Amino acid sequence: MTPRIVLIGAGIVGCALADELSARGWSEITVLEQGPLFATGGSTSHAPGLVFQTNPSRTMIGFAAYTVEKYNALTLAGRWAFRQVGGLEVATTPARVEELKRKLGYAASWGVQAELLDPDQCAQLHPLLDRDQVLAGYHTPHDGLAKPLRAAEAQARAAIARGVRFLPWQRVVALETGGGGRVAGVRTEQEVYPADIVVSCAGYWGARIARMAGTSLPLTPMAHQYAMTTPLAALAADRFSTAASEAGLPILRHQDRDLYFREHRDRLGIGSYAHRPMPLETGNLADPTPADTGMPSQLAFTADDFAPAWADAAALLPALGSAKVEEGFNGIFSFTPDGFPLLGESAQVPGCWFAEAVWITHSAGVARAVAEWIRTGTPDVDVHECDLNRFEAVQLAPTYHRTRSCRNFIEVYDIIHPLQPSEQNRPARVSPFYARQSELGAVFLEAGGWERPQWFEANAALDTSAVPARGDWASRYWSPIAGAEAQAARERVALFDMTPLARLEVQGSGALAFLQRMTTNQLDKPIGAVTYTLLLDEAAGVRSDLTVARIGPELFQIGTNGPLDLDWFRRHLPADDGSVQIRDITAGTCCIGVWGPHARDLVQPLTDTDFSHAAFGYFKARQAYVGDVPVTALRVSYVGELGWELYTSADLGLRLWDALWHAGQPFGVTAAGRSAFSSLRLEKGYRLWGTDMTAEHTPDEAGLGFAVKADKGEFLGREALLRRHEAGPPALRLVPLLLDRVEDVVMGREPVFHDGKPVGYVTSAGFGYSIGRSIAYAWLPSSIAEPGSSVEIEYFGERLRAVTAAEPLFDAAMTKIRR
Ligand SMILES: Cc1cc2nc3c(=O)[nH]c(=O)nc-3n(C[C@H](O)[C@H](O)[C@H](O)COP(=O)(O)OP(=O)(O)OC[C@H]3O[C@@H](n4cnc5c(N)ncnc54)[C@H](O)[C@@H]3O)c2cc1C
Repeated sequence: MTPRIVLIGAGIVGCALADELSARGWSEITVLEQGPLFATGGSTSHAPGLVFQTNPSRTMIGFAAYTVEKYNALTLAGRWAFRQVGGLEVATTPARVEELKRKLGYAASWGVQAELLDPDQCAQLHPLLDRDQVLAGYHTPHDGLAKPLRAAEAQARAAIARGVRFLPWQRVVALETGGGGRVAGVRTEQEVYPADIVVSCAGYWGARIARMAGTSLPLTPMAHQYAMTTPLAALAADRFSTAASEAGLPILRHQDRDLYFREHRDRLGIGSYAHRPMPLETGNLADPTPADTGMPSQLAFTADDFAPAWADAAALLPALGSAKVEEGFNGIFSFTPDGFPLLGESAQVPGCWFAEAVWITHSAGVARAVAEWIRTGTPDVDVHECDLNRFEAVQLAPTYHRTRSCRNFIEVYDIIHPLQPSEQNRPARVSPFYARQSELGAVFLEAGGWERPQWFEANAALDTSAVPARGDWASRYWSPIAGAEAQAARERVALFDMTPLARLEVQGSGALAFLQRMTTNQLDKPIGAVTYTLLLDEAAGVRSDLTVARIGPELFQIGTNGPLDLDWFRRHLPADDGSVQIRDITAGTCCIGVWGPHARDLVQPLTDTDFSHAAFGYFKARQAYVGDVPVTALRVSYVGELGWELYTSADLGLRLWDALWHAGQPFGVTAAGRSAFSSLRLEKGYRLWGTDMTAEHTPDEAGLGFAVKADKGEFLGREALLRRHEAGPPALRLVPLLLDRVEDVVMGREPVFHDGKPVGYVTSAGFGYSIGRSIAYAWLPSSIAEPGSSVEIEYFGERLRAVTAAEPLFDAAMTKIRR
């Protein structure tokens, strides 16, 4: 039976989703819109529609690419919905020139056509530019202008032709729920609409709908200035555009001054992010009313805020010299703490979905992914960056996400280093070792709200003479001290704070059966066994990788990759019979990784439990006392050295740290940070989920086939996996590359070339201090994945030579770990 679906909101997202869902054969769809159709008064009604596809996120580029492809083929009453006028981003500072080269890398990694232009070429392409201001340009011929309302209506019309209803002036005021708290429909001011699935596409009103679902969305409505100039002689009619085409010049970005431009026939439209953030309270948002023909999403233009932007615009485009702002507005749209959309099903109200904080640029791509997700349970692309359940509790606090969203507004066009942490709302989460780490001069970055030491200045006296220097970009948020910390772990012993690694406790009479059904490896093992296993989705994509320790007959401790894993488990819990309980124990516990050849010498004297290899083997767990601290010890190692992860409750964490620290002094114990950790794990080839592999990859492709026991019985994703096995060997593989030159350290997301053609992209990268080589893991076609293939990595426009290698790159015989 086809489900009854209600979509809330007929902006571009609601219209695109109605189209994508109905195209999949579902027609019992009603779109409820609180305003008129189709100029509803939401953000879509006045967005100028610039579509620049390039983005550091592969997923976001994919969303944009589909949007371009789809809107390019759309018309409404014979008029265009997308014009491929091309995009031009200019650099007026040397730093931006480098940034454009980095963008060129994203484009090559993920299939956007792009080129770098010199100033003359820029001026040729966009004759209004002052050539002398420009140092370089980034040209993307397939970018362009969407006509948002036309694109929205054209998609709505296609949906209507398949039976979808669009109802104006229907403000949703409540969600109806039924058995199990599942959504049962929505109530508008006029009537109740029963539904099996509700999708909120309410744009910047989205947080209101979330409140109706008893949940909170980290979405901040913000105003952003857009102004139209008086007519410009330089754009005289028919010079670049006709009445029908509206625009002929490429869309233009001047990110050094937070500005963008598009042509409106003989006028220029100027958008500015250069002004102060202007957040709005969700509770104070205006709604459209039949009596008022204004747009609730358009606030009055605050000219003073625009004045600096105008001066900067005129400096770049001298043709503006004699012009003025003819009209402008402060337009509202959605911001999130990390700049990504909020997509997916509510954890609180099953059947209630959200597709919020989506730009025009990504609208069709998002709609396609959400439609697939609703239909099959699995989106057709990796959406973990966009999943609305990705946040930690602290990140949902209104003050937290509002401050972060404001910061995002300010930084929207800034050059951001991949490791650059936010300065706001910190410190938020700290491990019990924070005080000691601070005393040791920890340089903290942030992960999942946690303060995480990157390296320790107290280790500056260690020998760093063998650590090669690296270029400016790769040396930011890095210190050669990290190299010395890595060597301390390889040669002596080091303490790593593993507290931010999220952990769950699963227990109950049904716990084993539940975990067996959810994961790929055999977990039916004796108490004390530790197992590395995978969570697959229905299409056999790797949703996560886990370390499962069997602590008791019905008790498991699981190392996970964060909130999405807990969400996934909860969605799949057996019917509410109490046979399985699951809880996140991360915040109440802490963990120290004690790793290095002297790890046993350090820990054994502190405990009566036998930590010998014979008594406490690799991938085993024991309860023990270390000093007077009760710990759960896991003999695992993400860094490839002898040692243990020692877990205890948060209250005893400091005592554990101090005990280990004192006992370690004779062995030269070193506090080591994340930078060293990353290097050590790369040398061992241990994958980092979300960076190295995602739900778009199968275990075999990711080199994780060893964690699948297909003959253990049913588990989620097994059938799809077997089908994929039958289809033949993987076409792509994740493999390590070794760069020729030690000073070449790349950061991740760079394109990889073979025979001059882009063939893949880098995931994780760093320097391997033990092997003395620069390492980059990359997705490559299987045909060149065997060791010995010559490739090139493009980094800031330079091609760096590298070769595919056999893994692991360090201690293949595992002699360092198993002893
Ligand atoms: C000035 C400005 C410039 C922009 N420029 C660009 C650009 O160049 N490129 C780009 O990609 N993006 C741009 N954007 C962003 C883009 O406009 C938005 O991200 C996009 O339009 C959001 O689409 P939507 O469908 O989610 O939201 P909306 O278009 O706001 O639609 C949401 C709909 O939900 C309805 N609704 C809300 N609550 C309820 C309820 N309770 N019951 C029923 N209906 C409800 C609203 O009335 C509205 O029609 C710009 C935004 C602004 C403000």
